[in-house]
Amino acid sequence: MIGLIAATSAGRSAAAELAGALGGCTLYQEQTVAASVARAWAECEQLVCFLATGATVRLIAPLLADKHGDPGVVCVDEARHFAVSLVGGHDGGANRLAERVAEALDAQPVLTTATDAMGLPGLDTLGLHVEGELAAVSRALLDGAPVRLVSDAVHPLPALPPNLTPDAPSEAPVVVISDRIDEAAGPATVTLRPRSLIVGVGASRGAPTEEVLGLVEAALADAGLSRHSVSYLATVDAKADEPGLLAAAAALGVDLVAHPAEALAAVAVPNPSPAPQAAVGTPSVAEAAALLGGGELLVPKRKSAPEGRAAMATVAVVRKSPRGRLALVGLGPGARDLLTPRAREELRRASVIVGLDQYVDQIRDLLRPGTRIEATGLGAEEERARSAVRLAEQGHAVALIGSGDAGVYAMASPALAEAGPDIDVVGVPGVTAALAASSLLGAPLGHDHVSISLSDLHTPWEVIERRVRAAAEADLVVTFYNPRSRGRDWQLPKALSLLAEHRRPDTPVGVAHAISRADEWHTVTTLAELDVSTVDMTTVVVVGNTASRTVADRMVTPRGYRWQS
Ligand code: SAH
Repeated sequence: MIGLIAATSAGRSAAAELAGALGGCTLYQEQTVAASVARAWAECEQLVCFLATGATVRLIAPLLADKHGDPGVVCVDEARHFAVSLVGGHDGGANRLAERVAEALDAQPVLTTATDAMGLPGLDTLGLHVEGELAAVSRALLDGAPVRLVSDAVHPLPALPPNLTPDAPSEAPVVVISDRIDEAAGPATVTLRPRSLIVGVGASRGAPTEEVLGLVEAALADAGLSRHSVSYLATVDAKADEPGLLAAAAALGVDLVAHPAEALAAVAVPNPSPAPQAAVGTPSVAEAAALLGGGELLVPKRKSAPEGRAAMATVAVVRKSPRGRLALVGLGPGARDLLTPRAREELRRASVIVGLDQYVDQIRDLLRPGTRIEATGLGAEEERARSAVRLAEQGHAVALIGSGDAGVYAMASPALAEAGPDIDVVGVPGVTAALAASSLLGAPLGHDHVSISLSDLHTPWEVIERRVRAAAEADLVVTFYNPRSRGRDWQLPKALSLLAEHRRPDTPVGVAHAISRADEWHTVTTLAELDVSTVDMTTVVVVGNTASRTVADRMVTPRGYRWQS
């Protein structure tokens, strides 16, 4: 929950506005502002104080304990010019919150943590457990000094600073990304722990927690593996409620994941045994649960060795290769303020950007320093899609970008036609040319509508024509994409003539060119009067249905035929 503190009426109205925009907020109104802050501090993960920074500093000073547990605090000034991330920038999420608050209140976010100010991801913001000399290594990174990267695999991380490289000199500080505890260290070392290990566990009923936990810890330690790299414990369904397993998982700070016995029985394991087969219906629990879905068996089945009685727990450890991440990001029609905040975040989440050079140019300034760019020219769609998927399969965090929405006449479908289940895919919707055009032209899409691409490069003209005829007969509003180019000039007049068989000559037609770009123009005309020579490839043409009309030069399609007279 986000606690809001306000002392003035301007502050209270800003707080109310923020609560409406963000949700999950509570305004604290105790007897005194100090009491409000103290109560919010105890109850909330984050605070937004509509107070001067000085006042806020004095109020929270006695409450500060440590940066990992304290709430993140953002201050907003009386005039709402600034949203200042005051404390808890990273762990408390205050930097991120300052950005959200700034956006909601149209203020300027103020971030002073060095890594954010430089556009570098803080090593402690990557979602990995951090050990070692964070401050010293971060300082070296910010100073631009060479820092050596020692990584056990390609991980789907955001772009890391260019001065963090595998070939920095041996005396340089080191960032290790590994699940191994014995990786080479430098004079100053930060170790980041990927969640790469699955620990399979089996237990007899009533197995003591210490026996399970002790076995897991010993197995990891003997194999030179960090407990902070454990992603989860895995077992068989029948053991999902076994207290010793649940307690061991809780002690490690991870979940216990249970799989059906049939699924485990189908996994090939090196050490099957008749005992679990008889008890739970699979010849292996620990090895099979860890190996389910693939991976490298680092610790084969091992039993606990309690003194004076039979073992009650088994363990096996498997390393999964990192799952790459493919974000399909629509950039909108062109203008920066039609790029969604989520798209912006995904661009900064990626370490590789794949896209047409003109789109890369559009967002280059938003990328983190060190982002790898794979730009290609027009026409290389399939190659582009394939290379984005391959890079994600190698473990990278890839953003495949396109104009409008990435799924509309764009790269998402060729990419997903290639992508297997071994990568994570994240789609970010974008403002399409049809929607952007609609807003410019009025309200042409108020009732049922279709988009039809007139490009017959990859679709036979007969197919396009059949769809245009169907739309004409069904009285659908039609948005034509790819309407006309130098080499393709007869398709648009042909398509319009098919629509004209079912629509009056004065049917409204909207033309929107280079929407939200410097050379934008738009016009509302009619089927009879449209001058197709004004239409090119950066244009969409929206043809109304039989109910569409022009009102005050705006195109309007009624929402329903019984709705308005
Ligand atoms: N994915 C995009 C469409 C790509 S197809 C989307 O969701 O909008 C390319 C076609 O989109 C162009 O030929 C043109 O018809 C249309 N288009 C893209 N951007 C445009 C813009 N800024 N203004 C007008 N039309 C645009």
